[in-house]
Amino acid sequence: MKIHTGDQVIITAGKDKNRQGKVEKVFPQSDQVLVSGLNVYKRAKKRYGQEPGGLIEFNRPLPIGNVALLCANCKKPTRVSYKVDKSGGKRRICAKCGSEVDNKGGTKK
Ligand SMILES: [Zn+2]
Repeated sequence: MKIHTGDQVIITAGKDKNRQGKVEKVFPQSDQVLVSGLNVYKRAKKRYGQEPGGLIEFNRPLPIGNVALLCANCKKPTRVSYKVDKSGGKRRICAKCGSEVDNKGGTKK
């Protein structure tokens, strides 16, 4: 997966196009990402006994093809390229400015 949890992304398609958010969860099996505060849908809920009815907001995952990584350095939506460092670890690089996406440290697993 090119997008990781905690990444800043921009939506490139759909109803929240051009809005930005942070990745909350990644679903590798279905190639989807959950972006906090984006792609929120409202569903009407009927009243059931003691529970009040009303509108429920819920966050739906987006196809990963509909989001682009937002580079923290050049602040542009970008593609991800990879660089293998000396220790053999794969690092994600911004395809536009060449800076490391994961340079905050501690995110390597
Ligand atoms: Zn960049």
